[in-house]
Amino acid sequence: MHKVETLVVGAGQAGLAVSRCLARQGADHVVVERGRIAERWRAARWESLRLITPNWMARLPGWCYSGADPDGYMAAPELVRYLEDYAGSFAAPVHENTTVELVEAHGDGLRVVTDQQTWHACNVIVATGTENRAHVPPLASGIDPGIHQLTAGRYRGPHQLPDGGVLVVGASASGAQIADELRRSGRPVTISVGRHSRLPRRYRGRDVLWWMDRAGILGHTIDQMRDARSARSAPSLQLTGRMDHPVGLDALAARGVTLAGRLVAANGQRLSFAGDLPATIGAAQGRMERLLRTIDAYIAHRGGDGCAGPAGPPPPPATARGPASLDLRRAGIRTVIWATGYRQAYPWLRAPALNRRGEIAHHRGVTGVPGLYVLGLRFLYRRNSSFVDGVRHDARFVAAHAMRRTTTRARAAARADSRGLSA
Ligand SMILES: Cc1cc2nc3c(=O)[nH]c(=O)nc-3n(C[C@H](O)[C@H](O)[C@H](O)COP(=O)(O)OP(=O)(O)OC[C@H]3O[C@@H](n4cnc5c(N)ncnc54)[C@H](O)[C@@H]3O)c2cc1C
Repeated sequence: MHKVETLVVGAGQAGLAVSRCLARQGADHVVVERGRIAERWRAARWESLRLITPNWMARLPGWCYSGADPDGYMAAPELVRYLEDYAGSFAAPVHENTTVELVEAHGDGLRVVTDQQTWHACNVIVATGTENRAHVPPLASGIDPGIHQLTAGRYRGPHQLPDGGVLVVGASASGAQIADELRRSGRPVTISVGRHSRLPRRYRGRDVLWWMDRAGILGHTIDQMRDARSARSAPSLQLTGRMDHPVGLDALAARGVTLAGRLVAANGQRLSFAGDLPATIGAAQGRMERLLRTIDAYIAHRGGDGCAGPAGPPPPPATARGPASLDLRRAGIRTVIWATGYRQAYPWLRAPALNRRGEIAHHRGVTGVPGLYVLGLRFLYRRNSSFVDGVRHDARFVAAHAMRRTTTRARAAARADSRGLSA
């Protein structure tokens, strides 16, 4: 069995960020990755995807964007190169093509079985991301088997789908962007809209994320939230990485996408939708207006510094009720894309760290199992914990905690040794 102080599972931005923090302190560690560095950005993104966060928002421990277009938005392959260069900058000890199959308590540490070798580690940091298991509602099984179904993580582009119309279920960042791309490729598209987060790409002369960063909104912590569970399940922002191409529901509707309420039943070719579209749109508008008021208050407090535009939210989209039902055959729809989010899943974790929903229970990434940590989850501690730009704060905290544990253990072992010698 190989020995290592700290083993990190996953070489996405979270695993690399914590590796950099450990490397800086000279801590003994490895990062094991089942694919290659930034595997999710290689294998689970559609071809035209651009990040919704601007390039300057890619700050990692000891690394930041230094290219010519800080206000632009990277395509997925550019982010892969960015993360590869980051790993190279500190010779991150990444073992690629190594899948973790089991983690369990072992002595005063953890045993990690991979498909390549077995490790004994004092600490294990789980950085396997937020996309472990795509969530598809059970009603999907009621849809006629002749209809092609896939999840957003498996969508690559319009060329991959059978001819004909598409129903996209879910209107957060992924659903809205995919619906838009399919519509622009000339297909009839219906989007089933659930809870979503509406925002303008630019507000008062700046990228709205610039204001959210400056006003401290992205740095709000989970301890400041009244309802942690609801904060952690907040939908992703209905934005796209193209300044001139909004994907809000009003823009989609103007391009000919049919808006429907939440999908509530499926029976063969016949689908039913809730009549909740106006309420859902109204709720998203309300949340957006509150957020923009916070930005306005910040600007007023700063005396208008950096601001070049009038206050006031964009008007709400027209709130038609949408269809109550849809006959897929009659509407010419041959594909359903589920952009309905993800759930945590750790089938390889055999340690009492999961809550009854199968999620890792933690505070700031520290679990109840000594030596077991988690990073990169949504709102792990800060609102931007799962963003490229946000993970650095949690990575520093978790690395410091893990290293304190290693040092304390080493001191205790040395004391035990010296008692043994003097006995
Ligand atoms: C469509 C989409 C668009 C997004 N756009 C943005 C954006 O614009 N800006 C932004 O900041 N964030 C964005 N995000 C959110 C977030 O940045 C990404 O989800 C990001 O990939 C999370 O990084 P991570 O390191 O936490 O996890 P991941 O990138 O998911 O990395 C986890 C790694 O763990 C590996 N792994 C999993 N299981 C095992 C195992 N058993 N053994 C070994 N390795 C394992 C995986 O192969 C993977 O490489 C987006 C997310 C999605 C889904």
